[in-house]
Amino acid sequence: MKKSLISIFSFILISFYTLSSCQQPAVIDEENVTRIVTTLASDEMEGRRMFSPGIEKASQFIQEEFEKIGLEYMDGLNSYDQQFDMYSLAPKSMSVSLNGKAVDAANVLATVNSERLDISNVADVNVMTVGANDDFRTAFNQARGAEGKTIVLINPAHQESFNRFRGFFSRGNRVMELDADNAMVMIISRLTSIKSLSVQVENTVTTESLSNVAGKISGNRANEYVLFSAHYDHLGIRGAEGDTIFNGANDDASGTTAVMTLAKYFKDMGTKPERTILFVAFTAEEGGGYGSRYFSQQLNPDEIVAMFNIEMIGKPAVSGPNTAWITGFDKSDFGTLLQKAVEGTEYEFYADPYPTQNLFYRSDNATLARLGVPAHSISTTPIDVDKDYHQASDEVSTLDLAHMTNTIKALAAAAERMISGEDTPTRVDPANVN
Ligand SMILES: [Zn+2]
Repeated sequence: MKKSLISIFSFILISFYTLSSCQQPAVIDEENVTRIVTTLASDEMEGRRMFSPGIEKASQFIQEEFEKIGLEYMDGLNSYDQQFDMYSLAPKSMSVSLNGKAVDAANVLATVNSERLDISNVADVNVMTVGANDDFRTAFNQARGAEGKTIVLINPAHQESFNRFRGFFSRGNRVMELDADNAMVMIISRLTSIKSLSVQVENTVTTESLSNVAGKISGNRANEYVLFSAHYDHLGIRGAEGDTIFNGANDDASGTTAVMTLAKYFKDMGTKPERTILFVAFTAEEGGGYGSRYFSQQLNPDEIVAMFNIEMIGKPAVSGPNTAWITGFDKSDFGTLLQKAVEGTEYEFYADPYPTQNLFYRSDNATLARLGVPAHSISTTPIDVDKDYHQASDEVSTLDLAHMTNTIKALAAAAERMISGEDTPTRVDPANVN
């Protein structure tokens, strides 16, 4: 009798335990926020520079967290790792001759995004000339944007500008796609037309991979996405003395933490959302925006209803804690919808107070905005005076974690009506985006 009572009791206890452990309440708490941001900004992650072992660790950590949360993979992937290749091009050899006469390599600037360029026929190229009175920079941009293979004959009057550009472009290049069809070769020469030419350029090409970390919660509308994003890369290790690790606690471990805690929050709600929610940690924002560019090519941007790109929310804004600003406020009604959503709460959203800083263009949202997505960055850091921005001192100890937690809560509340399908921000007109 006694025994069976105990076993009934333990059965109830076990069932209660099982139930409560799989049905966690949906909360955004400071403890979890602190744990995640501290891990991402730890010295062990070595400042999360692209192509470094430190960023690998960060990626592993985010993936493990996504797994624990129970996010699904993005369509077409069998993990949270959205990996892609980058090509690093280093000049190896070059020989150019015009009308049968060899040209000194110091007078040649070649932009070739493939392993080799081999031209032996004038008919295969466009020839441009830049006269002594033409504007060098305009000519350069024109030639670079031209289709096909372009030879540019540059009057020696431009030698100085030419040398500067050559110094910059001969350091090599990194590209997402090799391109053997387009190339530009600039040559300092008094010639204004050519009868014959020979150009051979060789590059050493190295392939390296980069990874975004991406997960989703499927909604009833499989192809309508609300996207939360932040970049998890930072500047890595710099210098030789003192604190050499640029931890990037605010930039942008804070935003990445927001993406991760929002993922847990929406998943823990336990109900299928109306719209599908995507959670993405971008790589290489600091190194050229490659992560968001690759991401934007893996799905139809018309299907992204809204993009919350979260940047540097670890410090309170000048207008005080519990306020955040939105870049590109006038480019869609995204910001106005956010304002409405938190009306009557202690939180407030407003337009970016630093228009001269061009912040709308200084993060991954711009890549998606150019494709028409209502894609905005949300931030709280007084960027004009912040002394830790892009410094080794960007550490967790400088963050206001209560403010950061409140900001994430406000974002969760602000996104609710977009996720439920009740609100849909107007599209950005790509014509209004540089
Ligand atoms: Zn950033």
